Amino acid sequence: MVIHGLFLYPMEIRLPSPVEQIHLPLFNEKGLEVFVKRDDLIHPLVSGNKWRKLKYLLTKAVKERKNHLVTFGGAFSNHLLATAVAAKAGGLKASAFVRGEKVLNPVLQACRDFGMTLHFTDRLSYRDKKALFSEYFGSDQTAFFIDEGGASAEAVEGCAELIAELPHAFDHIFCAAGTGTTAAGIYKGIQAKGLHTRLHIVPALKDGLFLQSVIAEYVDLEEDLVLHPDFHFGGYAKASTELLQFVIDWHRDTGILIEPVYTGKLLYGLIQLIQQDHFKKGDQILWVHTGGLTGLEGFRNQFDRLAPGFTQNFIPLRAK
Ligand SMILES: *Cc1c(COP(=O)(O)O)cnc(C)c1O
Repeated sequence: MVIHGLFLYPMEIRLPSPVEQIHLPLFNEKGLEVFVKRDDLIHPLVSGNKWRKLKYLLTKAVKERKNHLVTFGGAFSNHLLATAVAAKAGGLKASAFVRGEKVLNPVLQACRDFGMTLHFTDRLSYRDKKALFSEYFGSDQTAFFIDEGGASAEAVEGCAELIAELPHAFDHIFCAAGTGTTAAGIYKGIQAKGLHTRLHIVPALKDGLFLQSVIAEYVDLEEDLVLHPDFHFGGYAKASTELLQFVIDWHRDTGILIEPVYTGKLLYGLIQLIQQDHFKKGDQILWVHTGGLTGLEGFRNQFDRLAPGFTQNFIPLRAK
């Protein structure tokens, strides 16, 4: 059992996550120092930003004596799996609305194995999450609503703590975004500490500029927030062979496993920007490894074709 701020949680959580320097010839050549915040090491299944996002939501649920977490996600959602695992560890019930037709893939199977009840929901109904919640759980006094991806002020609070853990200030921080909640939290943390760090966000989805207004709902935006919306590879969870090969090469060159939905796009973008001399000599750059390595499962067959053996590095979808 580990003590996390406000409450006791019966789960092995590794915090603060380590910061490591990454050495690649390109970084030397450009006179840059590149570091990674290893949030992927926080927990194998409640990984990366997902624990930070859930932490204060769980605190709130427990305080309000709600013991049934109800949340939302796509068929390969890292958030669903994280919620299922955290619920089980905390002795809570968990239900999830899964977007789209009924499928069973390794991630959803793992959610079930951890005791989560799945409700497959057509895309139209899925849009109105509050309506779904009240239709199914309106009479359940113990049900606790958690928005898709955990998006909430509580999640922003949890993600802001990442900044307080850093050993020193960086010139640039890079972070991938889906809902933008994690980025909003990191930005909040930067502001709270009064740092002169520039936050760069790489949206994992198409037309990602809208994230600017999402983030502005949580924090006051200034010039030090930059969106790089052109590294989405066609849209959310879309990946080209080039991107998958990049993920394989990154692992070979650095020993750090990433996935194509978020961190692959983030690093592909970062490398391009470095090659285009976007940074000053001497700059220190930190990228956040937001974890989500179970998302690799969605690309297992493609990876098997590209690089036999690579899939052996995948995270087993079982309790540790
Ligand atoms: C969920 C997830 C994100 C997106 O986080 P948001 O707070 O929704 O922007 C980024 N990276 C990984 C690996 C994720 O699993």
